[in-house]
Amino acid sequence: MPGFELFGELERKEVNDVLDNGVLMRYGFDGMRKGHWKSRELEIALEQSFNTKHVQLVSSGTAAVSVALASAGVGAGDEVIMPAFTFVASFEAIMMLGAIPVLVDIDDTLALDPKAVEAAITTKTKAVMVVQMCGSMGDMNALQAICDTHDLLLVEDACQAIGGVYKGKPLGSIGDLGCFSFDFVKTITCGEGGAVITNNKEYYTNADHYSDHGHDHVGHDRGAERHPFLGYNFRISELHAAVGLAQVKRLPEFLTIQKKNYTILRDALSQIPEVVFRTVPEGGEESCAFLNFFLPDIDTTRKVSEAFKQNAIDACFHYYDNHWHYIRKWDHLTNLKSLFPISQEVKKGLSYLKTKAFTQSDYYIARNISCLIKLSWTEEEVRSRAAKMVEVIESIVLK
Ligand SMILES: *Cc1c(COP(=O)(O)O)cnc(C)c1O
Repeated sequence: MPGFELFGELERKEVNDVLDNGVLMRYGFDGMRKGHWKSRELEIALEQSFNTKHVQLVSSGTAAVSVALASAGVGAGDEVIMPAFTFVASFEAIMMLGAIPVLVDIDDTLALDPKAVEAAITTKTKAVMVVQMCGSMGDMNALQAICDTHDLLLVEDACQAIGGVYKGKPLGSIGDLGCFSFDFVKTITCGEGGAVITNNKEYYTNADHYSDHGHDHVGHDRGAERHPFLGYNFRISELHAAVGLAQVKRLPEFLTIQKKNYTILRDALSQIPEVVFRTVPEGGEESCAFLNFFLPDIDTTRKVSEAFKQNAIDACFHYYDNHWHYIRKWDHLTNLKSLFPISQEVKKGLSYLKTKAFTQSDYYIARNISCLIKLSWTEEEVRSRAAKMVEVIESIVLK
């Protein structure tokens, strides 16, 4: 997945364009910028790459989720259904708006279980946020049908699945709004950055204004611009956008390498009957940012994860036992450890976390290993890694 691995001349050239004129901000300073509008150019490139009408760049993927929800009017007291297996950014971005994250089980896609979503809907539910984890996706048809029936927004966090496709559509472009991250470990990077994508003009205009203090961006004098509504600063800088502009041009190249490396590893692991790959919904094509598989039980998984580490097979994660991506280790959320007071409504709305069990998610995450696919590996390195992985897994499952 990491775009940071392949980095060079093209990125340097784009950044130097910005440094040459010294305009590091995306808005204004028209006379000084010698025609360089890197953020706008990147937005247009992303519109083309993701086959979507509108793209608003922001400062991070986490900001993208907050801006997406805010642009569609989600706020205080609203419930947003999200998966128990995701990145901490999901609930952070929801809570920043005073809204309530409602965590529900995932299924063998490693994304939202549509049945769990349906069961969690209340009169307060405003949106369903599917997180396309580890390069693949949830059952988008089923999730869309639920959102249509209950008149809910469908928001896609596609930060980890840049380049994945569902029924011919790029992930991120299927829901009412999609979110991307271009942080340093994502498929393409800006250093830090993110994007909201949508086909809805009103949401786009809201995102454009909201992410820049509510500025309406009419005319060429920032001081004369009006504020139709309150906003915040989630702007990206021209330096970051310049890096992204070089990277987005290389996205097809990155995806091809990712798929090649993924396929070698997957083919090798397919020989082991005890290895079961994560389910990809019909019509879905993974981005191949990760190879995900399940082992028969938690003990085997823990042993394999440990043996991978001892055998220098890096970048493979057993999320059940680490603090990154799963509810089991998020005590700070469960115990609402906040630096500042949280509203009574959100406190009450989150009290379910003290007692709720995520039995079905445990069943999948406890047995899942998720291996990052790197772009810098040589073919020989991937083949020797594949052979080593097979050897390690077989030595444990055959015992
Ligand atoms: C990386 C990531 C984010 C947040 O992106 P940042 O740019 O790091 O803020 C959100 N959701 C998921 C699933 C991610 O992987």
